[in-house]
Amino acid sequence: MLANIRIVLVQTFHPGNIGASARAMKTMGLTDLVLVNPRCFPDPEASRLAAGAEDVIDNARVVGSLAEAVNDCVQVVGASARLRSLPLPHFDEPESMARELIANADDPVSLVFGRERFGLTNDEIRCCSHQVSIPANPDYGILNLAQAVQVLAYEAFKAWRRQPDSGYRHPRPSEERQPTREQLQHFHEHLGRVMRHSGFLTQPHARTETQLQALFARAQPSRKELSLLRGLLRSLEPDTTDSSDRS
Ligand code: SAH
Repeated sequence: MLANIRIVLVQTFHPGNIGASARAMKTMGLTDLVLVNPRCFPDPEASRLAAGAEDVIDNARVVGSLAEAVNDCVQVVGASARLRSLPLPHFDEPESMARELIANADDPVSLVFGRERFGLTNDEIRCCSHQVSIPANPDYGILNLAQAVQVLAYEAFKAWRRQPDSGYRHPRPSEERQPTREQLQHFHEHLGRVMRHSGFLTQPHARTETQLQALFARAQPSRKELSLLRGLLRSLEPDTTDSSDRS
């Protein structure tokens, strides 16, 4: 579905903006980049600013007109900071645009961005089925081209992620994995043993142990942190500790 969302850049002047747009796309899972008459492409500056998204640049297609770039699309949304008097449906909120775009993205759809100096011409806007504006400071509301790509690509990604069948799961580094209840219980038993051995607890002292359990419940140690604490406890135990204690 994200593969069907095409980013079209019309007559981009600075190759660096093409690279930065490719990077913005890749961070949001988009891959289909079409360039309409770029001033200078390929260009080392584009590759430099792509910074890891060179594959998007390498697979970009260059075409001679906006019509050629979007003819196979079922929805074509022109991004424009300025309201035009053209009678095209207009999205004031990128979020509602993105919801509709995703709903249509079983077929190719496009987001079209204009030139750095003067945006899209009226003829190019006529090639679009919709327009969208990114709400911004009324006194200074024109974003850099690649940043406009980033904002709309992010909205598309968010709308896609909300789909129940997207299968998206927030990537969690393994160090952040939470311990199981059993691992936590073993840790507290281990802590209790060490406290008793050291003489810190002289009698069954449920309250202290409950307070410590509450402290660790708030801290939410990760598995990695918990095993660090277990190592610390082991280093405090007398060597004679029965290995069956080391659950
Ligand atoms: N100087 C141009 C704008 C160039 S910015 C003008 O006045 O139209 C390059 C492109 O970024 C624009 O053509 C548009 O596609 C996109 N863009 C920049 N700011 C935007 C905004 N607030 N909303 C939607 N698109 C925007």
